[in-house]
Amino acid sequence: MSKFYQEKVTAIHHWTDHLFSFTATRDPGLRFRSGQFVMLGLEVDGRPLMRAYSVASPHYADEIEFFSIKVPDGPLTSRLQHLNVGDEVLISRKPTGTLVLDDLLPGKRLFLFSTGTGLAPFISLLQDPETYERFEQVILLHGVRYEKDLAYREFFTQELPNNEFLGELVQQQLVYYPCVSREPFKHQGRITSLIENEQFYRDTGLEPLNPATDRAMICGSTAMLHDIKDMLEARNFKISPRMGEMGDFVIERAFAD
Ligand code: NAP
Repeated sequence: MSKFYQEKVTAIHHWTDHLFSFTATRDPGLRFRSGQFVMLGLEVDGRPLMRAYSVASPHYADEIEFFSIKVPDGPLTSRLQHLNVGDEVLISRKPTGTLVLDDLLPGKRLFLFSTGTGLAPFISLLQDPETYERFEQVILLHGVRYEKDLAYREFFTQELPNNEFLGELVQQQLVYYPCVSREPFKHQGRITSLIENEQFYRDTGLEPLNPATDRAMICGSTAMLHDIKDMLEARNFKISPRMGEMGDFVIERAFAD
């Protein structure tokens, strides 16, 4: 048995000239938990060329979705960005990852901190009813450079609140906070700055981060992971020590550059 499932691309969406997402067929044998990643890739010169990619679709969906950056000279994304419907992709059989609900202690509010394509695992988690069962409120922060980089914005503001099964939970429990750092925007600045200068609390009316009630997940660049981890630790949040052990927050390092 091959180490990889061979799947077919079913749809592609180009968000900007450097961001795209696509869906592919999903083998019924591929089981994953919301927030996990798989190795995704292509056969190049007879060999698999694979990278870690968070699954953006929910665990119950028939197809599997990924959200990716396009790096012009990147060995894999320079090829992936030219995928067409019907093309074959390889997907590893063993999903893994640290951004899972089971590794968070019980709490009232769940903060999801993301920058760029670090949003991907949270697209999956926010479509999982369990996320809304475990937490009273779920706050998604997505930081990007330019407004056009706010991929999935309409999904969070229009589609998900009107979803037949999740819509009511989403309307009552989800706070979506997009931030743009390099041009004027209603929430302008890095996620970290908007929290440190308390603009985030003024904008949302939320209470300050508090380890007694709050849990968090972080996914983004190495620098961002580092800064948000520091910000949480300065507020006495304790990281999950390793996969399978609970903490106040979890970090995904698999994609850190
Ligand atoms: P990114 O560089 O990680 O930036 C995403 C957001 O994270 C920006 O708002 C950025 O703010 C912020 N950020 C960076 N470091 C942070 C930290 N330590 N703490 C908190 N927030 C932080 O991701 P990206 O824009 O998706 O770009 C990823 C890669 O694609 C880069 O290598 C870039 O050169 C390339 N690329 C990007 C664009 C684009 O327009 N976004 C276009 C072509 C290529 P700052 O703006 O303050 O850095």
